[in-house]
Amino acid sequence: MTTPAILTLNAGSSSLKFAMYHAQTEALLARGQVDRIGPDATLSMKDADGAALPVAPGPLCNHDDAVAQVLASLRGAFPDARAIAIGHRIVHGGIFHDRPVMLDAAMLDELRALSPFAPLHQPHNLDGVRAAMEAYPGVPQIACFDTAFHRNQPFVNDTFALPRRFYDRGVRRFGFHGLSYEYVSGELARIAPTLAAGRVVIAHLGNGASMCAVQHGRSVASTMGFSALDGLPMGTRCGQLDPGAVLYLMQQEGLPPDEIADLLYTQSGLLGLSGISNDMRELEASDHPHAREAIDYYVFRLQRELGGMAAAMGGVDALVFCGGIGENSRLIRARVCERTEWMGIELDHSRNQDNAPVISTAFSRTTIMVIPTDEELVIARAARKMIGA
Ligand code: AMP
Repeated sequence: MTTPAILTLNAGSSSLKFAMYHAQTEALLARGQVDRIGPDATLSMKDADGAALPVAPGPLCNHDDAVAQVLASLRGAFPDARAIAIGHRIVHGGIFHDRPVMLDAAMLDELRALSPFAPLHQPHNLDGVRAAMEAYPGVPQIACFDTAFHRNQPFVNDTFALPRRFYDRGVRRFGFHGLSYEYVSGELARIAPTLAAGRVVIAHLGNGASMCAVQHGRSVASTMGFSALDGLPMGTRCGQLDPGAVLYLMQQEGLPPDEIADLLYTQSGLLGLSGISNDMRELEASDHPHAREAIDYYVFRLQRELGGMAAAMGGVDALVFCGGIGENSRLIRARVCERTEWMGIELDHSRNQDNAPVISTAFSRTTIMVIPTDEELVIARAARKMIGA
């Protein structure tokens, strides 16, 4: 008997994350990733309990290799599984896509045309799609967009104050991390429907980081804008930056656009400020003053953006942390909450230390929660819905 399965692929510039689910029960069968695609790449895979699964040996020099080895590893570990749909994380869906779409040659062309909007991500996402289409001809492939969750934001959060023609050409605030926000909003609606129907701020704090104000289940403001650079400082990305500083770098320091892109995407944020690491665990463990200052800046920007999200909605009923830092760092959660007590946010320190699902006191006007995010499951569900499984 074969097991119908849904596969999810999330192809980044040098990584490929994947997961496989039972198509009917949504049970996770395996998840894993290829890191540092190239000569030194590694492939790892775990079952639903986190136990390591054997992987296929073979080259991982490019995205085609990576997809081929992932598929070979899944076939080896689950010989009875048959992929009936493949869902892909695609960073950019442009102005119109506010939900997942079925991928075909025309849609691929349309999404390829969006590459200038996300040059560091979109081409790699689409490499993964192409490789999967070649490996699984005839199997439905579905695109799930990081921008879709925010597509119906009010105009005031969708636009910049540039001449109108640029808005019409797509220079807008797209917002990202939409798959994570969709998952967390859905979980909140399941666990605490009354809160989910109110004013919610979700802080997705991982290597990439953003915050989203969700009112009545709808995204109304987000810290990420046109690109995944805006808003909060991140592992290696700068977050909010005066565009005048970019002009200065170009005009006075003579930095070419590619170098500026590299600076803003890969050398800034926690890494740039600390000069030590992009990894919050390392910074928390360090007693170097620059590590402390990087954390201070991170907390300060969180505090400011949280105030902005609250202002956008006229208050906050629930604050939800997710992402590697949001789900694990007691220190960052505590410091952000301490600085936003004026808003009615009151952290229960012992619950925070225990990483409990609800970490606010009974008196807190805002319920503070930790909800582990699961972008892969959102993709798998969308793919399943699309094929009517
Ligand atoms: P993500 O991109 O969601 O995997 O998150 C990666 C970030 O989460 C890195 O900065 C990690 O250092 C951070 N992180 C993971 N676990 C912890 C922890 N226990 N304490 C602090 N930061 C953590």
